[in-house]
Amino acid sequence: MLQQDLHIHTTYSTSDSAVVPEQTVALIAAVRHANIIGISDHFEYLMDGNFEGYEKELRQVGFKVGVEVDGHPWVDEAKNYDVDYYIYHCRDQNADYRSLDKLVTTGKPVIIAHPNAFQTNLKRVPSECLVEINNRYVWRTDWKQYYAPFTNQFKFVFGSDAHQPNWLSQTVAHYVAAQLSIEEHLVF
Ligand SMILES: [Zn+2]
Ligand SMILES: [Zn+2]
Repeated sequence: MLQQDLHIHTTYSTSDSAVVPEQTVALIAAVRHANIIGISDHFEYLMDGNFEGYEKELRQVGFKVGVEVDGHPWVDEAKNYDVDYYIYHCRDQNADYRSLDKLVTTGKPVIIAHPNAFQTNLKRVPSECLVEINNRYVWRTDWKQYYAPFTNQFKFVFGSDAHQPNWLSQTVAHYVAAQLSIEEHLVF
């Protein structure tokens, strides 16, 4: 079991085409691939009255309540919601760095989402921020060159960015096996 996964999407990310209908809060709660689980659906899909149901469903299964905020246009609105933490898209533009400061002043954890994928300039990111190593995106760029200069400057958080059950790692297979009362046969 993983220690922590705070970057997970569910069917609440209604317009994210990578999310499959089976990626429900209930399934993630049943599989329990990590000790500490937080859901971070896209904030822009949670407005218009969807947040209350989202928060309630997450709290009922003991999950942390996060949102993934897509840069500066959403920050002022996102600050009005009672979340436990923010995942933040910080593109390499002044407005995104400026709005990041506003999120930091909330005192809640702010995780910089897959910064290597956005070419976020980590020199411009406050050291209070947590920096994500994102399982979906980290391998797509020269991660060593990107992250190595900052390993002593930040604390790091690892996220699956799961949009589908199989992105939660092989724990789905282990969950099914447990439900069927079968054990894996080790071939070698
Ligand atoms: Zn993202
Ligand atoms: Zn995400």
